[in-house]
Amino acid sequence: MPARAHSIRAVSASIIDGKAIAARVRGEVATEVRAFIEQTGRIPGLATVLVGEDPGSAVYVAGKQRACLEVGMSPVDRRLPADASFQRIAEELESLNAEEAVSGVLLQLPVPEHLDGPALTAMIAPEKDVDGLTPINAGLLSLGRPGLRPCTPLGVMELLTQAGVQLEGVEAVVVGRSNLFGKPMAQLLLSENATVTVCHSRTRDLRGVCARADVLIAAVGRPRLIEKDFVKPRAVVIDVGMSRLTPEQAGNSSRLVGDVDFAGAVEIASAITPVPGGVGPMTIAFLLRNTLQAARAQAGVEG
Ligand code: NAP
Repeated sequence: MPARAHSIRAVSASIIDGKAIAARVRGEVATEVRAFIEQTGRIPGLATVLVGEDPGSAVYVAGKQRACLEVGMSPVDRRLPADASFQRIAEELESLNAEEAVSGVLLQLPVPEHLDGPALTAMIAPEKDVDGLTPINAGLLSLGRPGLRPCTPLGVMELLTQAGVQLEGVEAVVVGRSNLFGKPMAQLLLSENATVTVCHSRTRDLRGVCARADVLIAAVGRPRLIEKDFVKPRAVVIDVGMSRLTPEQAGNSSRLVGDVDFAGAVEIASAITPVPGGVGPMTIAFLLRNTLQAARAQAGVEG
């Protein structure tokens, strides 16, 4: 939660505490899950599908499973060998699509290179697509119609709300245009009537475009790409980037770094997210929220 209102002139930005906001969202989901179980007699279930043994992906999946249990949902853990065929994974996804106890299905990305990740993701039933990445849900978002939205952009919208940011009419700049984050982020901002610019690796004058932003969101994966003079005075800065530095690169500081030069930007912005402890914790919180949304829709009950 930001320490100060934005209208007050401050020496340095308030820090948007994603860890605390995510903990609150998870607490709310846990309460709503109890009410849902009482009302329907069903326990929302989240199935994760992990292909291969990438240690980073295994840690993410374990975190999602744990978070699921903590809010009273039931996790389903499916693991397939790294050399599993497209057909074999497709069968697994289809069987989860058909399982009544499973409300949400997510395929942990990236999948091994011989597989077509987007084609596999597209096989998840849209009503169970809690990552919001199937063509149907991406299309619904782009049309401004209800559907399941990608978790990290939803998390960023919640951070902006909690920081008291009014989006109507403001200049919002998103750096990064991935299907996972940049594009859905831009759509969500647009749906709140922000004026949105999306930057990418071919953008001319990235610095100049960023410096116009009242709300600047960086999702690139390049440590400190966004320097102090990219930031408009009193802007709100959201750092989605996550890069792991080697111990030599990191020195005494954190090994997990974002895209923004935090020490510089904190002097210019009105509010800013740290890395770690900013956007990161929001993703799982909104995965849980999406799973509950999916369970409600499948049970035909109102949220
Ligand atoms: P991605 O698919 O690799 O996309 C990166 C985007 O950055 C691309 O659109 C690319 O442009 C653009 N880009 C690359 N170099 C650039 C430059 N010099 N100037 C401007 N734009 C540049 O990555 P992603 O999946 O969106 O993730 C981005 C970052 O966010 C990563 O660090 C990832 O770890 C992090 N992330 C964090 C969370 C979380 O906190 N939970 C969730 C999602 C992502 P082109 O399209 O032209 O190549």
